[in-house]
Amino acid sequence: MPTKKRLIEKFNHFLKSYYHENSDLMRELSDKQNPELLVIACSDSRIDPAILFNMQPGEVFSVRNVANIVPTFDAGAENHSIWAAIEYAIFGLNIKSIMVLGHSNCGGVNYLSNLIRENDTGSFYHLPIWVRNAASEQFSMLCHTRKQEQDSGLLERENIMHSIRNLQVCPWIEYRLANKSLALNGFRFDIKNGALETVYSSEES
Ligand SMILES: [Zn+2]
Repeated sequence: MPTKKRLIEKFNHFLKSYYHENSDLMRELSDKQNPELLVIACSDSRIDPAILFNMQPGEVFSVRNVANIVPTFDAGAENHSIWAAIEYAIFGLNIKSIMVLGHSNCGGVNYLSNLIRENDTGSFYHLPIWVRNAASEQFSMLCHTRKQEQDSGLLERENIMHSIRNLQVCPWIEYRLANKSLALNGFRFDIKNGALETVYSSEES
């Protein structure tokens, strides 16, 4: 259990090792950041974008939430935190690339598929409200026409594509994709096999 004592021990280890060994980088980063990549990833403890893509501090601006969901673009809607981060990444940091990162065995995607199939929220209140942001027509259709145990990969890919589509129709992202000043990629990481699957890429010809 990560008690305060254990957390401080772990931090001290970081201080003596990584922070000390990269003191020039940390000093450089102390008054500015200049990441070129925005990652929208699942909160799952088994995937860490910085570790998976060998990124150092300062290289990636991250948004993480249950099931790597980008809700529909609508300035008047309730999902301000996600779009505020995306907006800041685009206008404040001038990022060059967006990556949506999903993964195998995603609990959020599995929960949404159960919710659609059984209409059972379990003991959760906020979770069903949140994951319904990813209940696309395609996702619902897959839930109703396929067997659950065979389809986690299909649902995870569709979930990534739903976020990609919601990013694509945002006017200021659409504009940058059209003039190629921004790249957009969707990946699914298979935890068991260590495989990275490209679900979508604006960089493909
Ligand atoms: Zn997940």
